[in-house]
Amino acid sequence: MDSVIHSHTKTTNRLYTEPHNPHLHLARGLIHEQLGFPDLASADAYRALSLLESVVDPEECEFHARRRAEAIHEAELASKAAEAAAAAGNRHDTDDEDEDEDDEGTFVPITKPEYDDLIGTVYELLVRSLVSCACFRDAFDFCARGMGLFREAGMDCSVLQGLMGVIKRHYTERRAKLGREDSKEGDVDPRLLSAMGSARRVLYPWNMHEPDRKAPETVRLLNERVGTVAPKCEVKAVALPSLHGSHDKIANADTNAAGPESGDEVSIQLGLFAKEDIPPGEILLRESSLLTATNRLHDDLCDACNTLLPELSAENPPVACENCDDTIFCSRKCHDQAQDLYHGAICGREGLASIGRDIQDPRDKADCLYLLLLGRAMAMAATQGVHPLDLPEVKYIWGDFHDLDSNTNNNDPPTPDQSPPP
Ligand SMILES: [Zn+2]
Ligand SMILES: [Zn+2]
Repeated sequence: MDSVIHSHTKTTNRLYTEPHNPHLHLARGLIHEQLGFPDLASADAYRALSLLESVVDPEECEFHARRRAEAIHEAELASKAAEAAAAAGNRHDTDDEDEDEDDEGTFVPITKPEYDDLIGTVYELLVRSLVSCACFRDAFDFCARGMGLFREAGMDCSVLQGLMGVIKRHYTERRAKLGREDSKEGDVDPRLLSAMGSARRVLYPWNMHEPDRKAPETVRLLNERVGTVAPKCEVKAVALPSLHGSHDKIANADTNAAGPESGDEVSIQLGLFAKEDIPPGEILLRESSLLTATNRLHDDLCDACNTLLPELSAENPPVACENCDDTIFCSRKCHDQAQDLYHGAICGREGLASIGRDIQDPRDKADCLYLLLLGRAMAMAATQGVHPLDLPEVKYIWGDFHDLDSNTNNNDPPTPDQSPPP
């Protein structure tokens, strides 16, 4: 496991310097699959596929696949050096300095023979991972595309054929469940396939940003912040019943009233408690956050705090960003905060404003808010020069993580052939 995680770290570091190298995306996708993260594997495989498509259809692609001239050779040397260093008990990565140099001259385009080499594995990893996450609609789409391509190229289709069998079995069951057996037998109607899948919620083994939420210094820090936004409340660490493996039972019970019985597994989480009696109707928490999202394009809302903009004739009229036509703030204060905390990194980059906002299908609108919120968090991290997981708005949010090696996840979709290793 340690050596797989070490390769994961190496490959991720290399991707920072070669983000358009499909070899590396595929390599990391296979590592993610091996570690039991098909959701992350499908994202890597999809990026590898998009980059490979630029090899055969350069006109249609925004980014073009390329790698360092000696990338493959270097990667081998680097992993050998790392193995040797690890064996000697020396964990320093001596080759990292070279990797950080960004020399434009050393890149070469990915060739058609490289494309031919990778494309089969990329399609198989993508479809296999999507099936593992139960994203059957996308799995079907890519599987059909891959099979068409493989047949045309005279390549072996058997892996994709097997996966198509899994998708079709799921389709038949779903058709029966939805009472849609009237729809044509044999042909798959992708609209009946599930578009949303699921993934394990775990603390990734390479994530070094997790705070100890129940440590006294963390609780003290949070209470300093809470003191200013909710003076009558305080944060405490509490033991809640562990929800793993008994989702249904607990969901029906009143978990607030009933504490866990002794001997039950517990989950320590942070909660907000009243320090004194609070009368009904009193506002107990007032906090403004810049980590917000709205997808109402061109509505008259402040880009930072999302309140309605004042009239242009108002005493304190709205303030526009000097470099961005569509970025308007309700006040000078919001404008200045935005520049310091999130807007700096995206200022003047035209085109970013419409991403996730210009939505064709209204059913996708709610999902796009996640994307926008993530985009805001990334902009905050880039502007403030911190890791996104170290933003104070993010750092203490806690999902109830599953154990990394837990096999008791009720939400795990059935996997086609074998379960991924823990
Ligand atoms: Zn504002
Ligand atoms: Zn701007």
